[in-house]
Amino acid sequence: MADILDGKALADRIKQRVKKEVVSLQKNGIDVGLGLLLVGDNPASVQYFNTTLGACRRVGITAHEFRLPDTVSLNELLNGIHAINHDERIHGLLMLMPLPARINARRVINTLVPEKDIDGLGSISVGRLSADESTIQIIRQEGTNTPSRHALTPAVWSFLPCTPFGVIRLLEHYKVPIRGRHAVIIGKSLAVGKPLAMMFLAKEATVTICHRETRDLGSMTRQADILCSATGKAGLIRGDMVKRGAVVVDVGINMLQDGTMTGDVDFGSVIKKASLITPVPGGVGPVTVAMLLENTVRSAKRSDMPPPSTMHK
Ligand code: NAD
Repeated sequence: MADILDGKALADRIKQRVKKEVVSLQKNGIDVGLGLLLVGDNPASVQYFNTTLGACRRVGITAHEFRLPDTVSLNELLNGIHAINHDERIHGLLMLMPLPARINARRVINTLVPEKDIDGLGSISVGRLSADESTIQIIRQEGTNTPSRHALTPAVWSFLPCTPFGVIRLLEHYKVPIRGRHAVIIGKSLAVGKPLAMMFLAKEATVTICHRETRDLGSMTRQADILCSATGKAGLIRGDMVKRGAVVVDVGINMLQDGTMTGDVDFGSVIKKASLITPVPGGVGPVTVAMLLENTVRSAKRSDMPPPSTMHK
């Protein structure tokens, strides 16, 4: 029977630390600010928006809310992002996805300067993660300041995407060995699967990425020492698809017809095979929000430093 990877407990620890840092920045004249941009009223986005607002309030981060109708034009949206780029009160922006289908989301995401791209979705942030220029954040262990040869590279201005960053933090917190282990990831999105694969590679795991066209998914998942599922398909991962003793991380969020929330993993059968498992809710979700707050503070800490060359072009 698996033990639980308690994301809520880790998130509370991270938020306590963030709260202290917010207070100390305030003493130095820096009021930490997070922008939240919501277009339309997608229920999942509204829920994430409200959860993040509440979390900001609890740690003392000032939330700057931008709620736009789904009729907003691309020009208006881009002008809004340009204004945020130059707004010194805002240290990072959370853009709730998806944007309306007629809007080119990549165009909007890439208009945000990397210094405020605290969810690491822009092409520059993605490139820096892929080039191992921003992975100092996951190579350095939680709560320590071990210097690294990467520490002084200019790319420390980049941020890691919050959900996969949270997965790595959760595994580190529970001292799950990663180096040399086989991590199998299901899902290849830019928000979760792909950056998570890059982070596992940076930590020298052997990585397999699966997706909806993968043949015989079970033959892949049964090889995993660490199995991460991020598909949004309830019940996709059953006990017979998991190697005994594997660590199972369920990133998926699915709302069932009775209103309950569940992940991708059939918890009842998988808990009997795994050694560690995340619950849904209470696993990856709370850590994602905590990482967003941590990234915002990290950005604010840099706000009194000289801007890098990519800023104010
Ligand atoms: P997405 O729709 O962009 O990507 C889903 C991925 O799953 C795709 O790569 C697809 O190929 C793969 N997939 C779909 N069906 C599959 C199948 N039957 N077998 C194998 N692979 C399959 O979604 P996303 O943004 O990456 O999010 C994935 C899930 O994670 C969703 O449930 C989302 O709500 C959840 N999520 C949770 C958090 C959190 O904080 N816990 C954050 C972001 C996303």
